Amino acid sequence: LPHQFRQASALLDHIETYDHQAYFVGGCVRDLLLNRHIGDIDIATSATPDVIQQIFSKIIPVGLEHGTVIVRYQHQSYEVTTFRLDGDYSDQRHPDAVQFVQTINQDLKRRDFTINAMAMDKNGNIIDPFNGREDLQKGIIRTVGNGHDRLIEDPLRIMRALRFSSQLGFKIEDETLRAMSGLSDEIETIAVERIVQEAAKFFAGAYVKTGMLYFESIGITNHLPILKDHPHIMEQIPKQIKPLKSFATVIAMFHVTEPGISIHQWAKQWKCSNKIKHEASVLSQALQHYQHDGLDRWLVYHLPANRYSDFATLVYMLFADVISEESIQKIATALPIYSKQDLAINGTELRRLFPDRGAGPWIGDILDQIEKQVVSGRLDNKKNMLKEWIKWNPPVTD
Ligand code: ATP
Ligand code: MG
Repeated sequence: LPHQFRQASALLDHIETYDHQAYFVGGCVRDLLLNRHIGDIDIATSATPDVIQQIFSKIIPVGLEHGTVIVRYQHQSYEVTTFRLDGDYSDQRHPDAVQFVQTINQDLKRRDFTINAMAMDKNGNIIDPFNGREDLQKGIIRTVGNGHDRLIEDPLRIMRALRFSSQLGFKIEDETLRAMSGLSDEIETIAVERIVQEAAKFFAGAYVKTGMLYFESIGITNHLPILKDHPHIMEQIPKQIKPLKSFATVIAMFHVTEPGISIHQWAKQWKCSNKIKHEASVLSQALQHYQHDGLDRWLVYHLPANRYSDFATLVYMLFADVISEESIQKIATALPIYSKQDLAINGTELRRLFPDRGAGPWIGDILDQIEKQVVSGRLDNKKNMLKEWIKWNPPVTD
């Protein structure tokens, strides 16, 4: 077993000493069998949250109402969830009360897809009542039980099926796919925040191009914010879509494709954080700049280093130009300054140069101009040079 699992085995042991069952479950088992990078290790147990809280010293009661406790164990965090029936999908049909059950098989039955409905004990034995392993081998996404019933129960699963197809490159099994098409309007009953979480993983998937075919074919675009009111957007987005690693990149792509819809609108209707909204603006401004002036110093100056790869991906998708991260990096390294603070002159000194003028917007204006000159290489960032420049380009009198 990989070391993450070996470390966590001690936690399973500990639960078992209290005469309770405990298993690795869900995504970590799937990813282990696929030899993929393993994210979080989730644990399912017959012990109730009360018991878990008593037998571990460091716990965070994150989702007691769903039977979930985070356990800190040997400097790692684990989500430990009591075996339960479906019940946390709180819509009208499902009262919020969670119902605990006795066996791992009952718990696996509530899970969405066969590939996510496997458990593993501490010795590496796989519990697989729905033939998830076979579907993993064949590369198939299939609901546990009747597709229609399971998707009605929690329509977010429609988005989840799409995101797993995009992450894993799997085919969606026929009955599941038919149910997805028939129920795509049900996605409108789901909180946008939950949809965005899955959508972000969808667009970041290594096989997003495959996923996209399903995305469009099941008609879900007619039921997602903004896309439902502007059906032409989907036709315009590039066919050679690449994995987009952050949701900001997704929004930037949509915005540059259809500039009529502002970043602000996207962020609002898709309920994004201000951070994502800001990152999307930075990216789309860089793309617009690129369209007019190409990859120059001014563009790179405004692009944070951790956005180079997203930017290069979008340039490739939208304008079919190949630019490497290294070429951006090379320009960045040669920049004379990295922010206004690096200018060899500041506002206070400017005021001293023009003692008869008070504080005012003229200071910012001059600094903006100097910044442009210095970044573009037309002016040396030396105090005497800057002063000279200002002498020839004095602030306009208002
Ligand atoms: P990732 O690696 O992206 O986290 P994951 O499979 O762990 O993938 P999660 O959203 O973290 O996905 O969910 C953990 C597990 O909980 C899933 O593998 C699945 O068994 C179950 N699950 C999650 N969401 C649902 C849902 N909406 N309906 C049914 N089961 C779900
Ligand atoms: Mg997970």
